[in-house]
Amino acid sequence: MNHRHCEECEEELRGRIDQRFCSDPCRNSWHNRSKREENQTLSRINARLRRNRKILLELSFSGQLKIAREYLLHQGFDFSYFTRLIQNEDGAEVRYCYELAYYEESDGYCVLIKEMSEP
Ligand SMILES: [Zn+2]
Repeated sequence: MNHRHCEECEEELRGRIDQRFCSDPCRNSWHNRSKREENQTLSRINARLRRNRKILLELSFSGQLKIAREYLLHQGFDFSYFTRLIQNEDGAEVRYCYELAYYEESDGYCVLIKEMSEP
């Protein structure tokens, strides 16, 4: 017979076959930690998206703005985080950062687009 152990403290379990924890305190601390780790993951991703949005908003443009990709990188823009990806009628991949959007051109420039709201 396999020995089963508490997922929190590794104490050997002697209860029901589906028992995962030796006690309520162990169950609670396990769940609290996993919630905390989930929150940390979400915070990290949200922080990157918010920073991207802030960088775009600080350019305070309306309509469209063509800007060097290098400039955005230098500001700390992280191109690997976006909220939505669509293909426009010209086949360009338009990435959204909340209500702002951009697509990259082959010359190292990005075209930023400010819309009233995400379609
Ligand atoms: Zn335990």
